[in-house]
Amino acid sequence: MKSDKKVMLTEKEMPAEWYNILPDLPEQLPPPINPATGKPLSPQDLQPIFPMGLIQQEVSQERWIPIPDKVLEVYKIWRPTPLVRAHELEKYLSTPARIYYKNESVSPAGSHKPNTAVAQAYYNKIEGVTRLTTETGAGQWGSALAFACNIFGLKCTIYMVKVSYQQKPFRKSLMHAWGADVYPSPTNLTNAGRKVLAEDPNSPGSLGIAISEAVEDAATHEDTKYSLGSVLNHVLLHQTIIGLETKKQLELIGEKPDVMIGCVGGGSNFGGFVLPFIAEKLKGKIDTKFLAVEPTACPSLTKGLYLYDHGDTVGLTPLLKMYTLGHKFVPPRIHAGGLRYHGDAPIICYLVHKKVIDAVAYPQKAVFEAAVTFARTEGFLPAPETAHAIKAAIDEAVRCKETKQEKCIVFNFSGHGHFDMAAYDQYFEGKLEDFEYSEEEIKKSLEEIKKFQVNQ
Ligand SMILES: *Cc1c(COP(=O)(O)O)cnc(C)c1O
Repeated sequence: MKSDKKVMLTEKEMPAEWYNILPDLPEQLPPPINPATGKPLSPQDLQPIFPMGLIQQEVSQERWIPIPDKVLEVYKIWRPTPLVRAHELEKYLSTPARIYYKNESVSPAGSHKPNTAVAQAYYNKIEGVTRLTTETGAGQWGSALAFACNIFGLKCTIYMVKVSYQQKPFRKSLMHAWGADVYPSPTNLTNAGRKVLAEDPNSPGSLGIAISEAVEDAATHEDTKYSLGSVLNHVLLHQTIIGLETKKQLELIGEKPDVMIGCVGGGSNFGGFVLPFIAEKLKGKIDTKFLAVEPTACPSLTKGLYLYDHGDTVGLTPLLKMYTLGHKFVPPRIHAGGLRYHGDAPIICYLVHKKVIDAVAYPQKAVFEAAVTFARTEGFLPAPETAHAIKAAIDEAVRCKETKQEKCIVFNFSGHGHFDMAAYDQYFEGKLEDFEYSEEEIKKSLEEIKKFQVNQ
């Protein structure tokens, strides 16, 4: 019932297949380009860093992909996750809108990220891989992969963005608890890291730099593969478990979403949440508004250009067609570390380009204010990343009050903020800064990538 606090699914009702949107897009997604040849990437190009199972999923045209039993078994540690009605927040805002949130913070790592980490560790394990490398920003992805590797008996090496390593030491401890090795990036362990340190010994690091290091480590070691926590098609595929559950839960209470909202770093929690609904919108069955929320400090969807760019900073990875701020762009040190990425998932960018998805950006202080409002009404303290979605949901609900519209607003609660208390401390002490993007810096950064555009 709509008046219930939580909508729960049983384990039996948990979806047993992931949804792949690729065959349902109106056109083929612009393919990744091999920077060495300027030609579309072949599956073989990816073999040094990814297992075949995931490469196949990356390009699959199958609409439904079965979730392996082993993965379903692990998912059951925390899935299905609740869909919760935010009654108290509605009352506080005196809005006629109904607000729901999908709570992905209930996983062992505290975010949506284990949905793909578990799947990726599984496909690597069955192909004989013994170690995974990765990057992590705020530490959520690192902890998710550490958790997943531990379950499947894989070693795990994590390059953690230095500013987060310093701001969030407890995430590092969590990764250690699950047995991973963690290094502050840029490190002296890779050519990519040494190159950045030579230019700027005090580099705070960025996701892009850390990706370069993790890819190099995997590409130069046998039996080691690389694992990416966002951006790629197979990651969004695994995350569709979120949207598929949400769909069932909304149907159970007779709701149709008018607005669906998620924060976007690389686009995986938002993509997983909305893609099953976007399928319906593309068929003309629903008229939901999809809203992607990003920080003004790293505004790729709202201020970037839709171009081919590298996924990493050094330029090792394939070129992806995406809204980008340029791969050399190093965003200011906002606390939503998971949203400090220069690009976004090609699937999300394509849909933004086609105006199926809208995007909006918010500054840091307004986002923390929304986070605290949520904690004081609904109880859960969100991750700063998640708070971007909350801010947008609140703004949407306030507009409903002005227009007297009884909209159904659903957002994805991507993670909890229990490892972000230093950031909250700063907010409560009035020390939090608002970083605007620097027009000048973005312009410079974009000029560089325009230089190597391929004709597509
Ligand atoms: C990593 C992370 C994000 C951003 O990553 P996406 O791939 O855009 O989902 C958002 N929220 C939380 C809690 C995260 O851990």
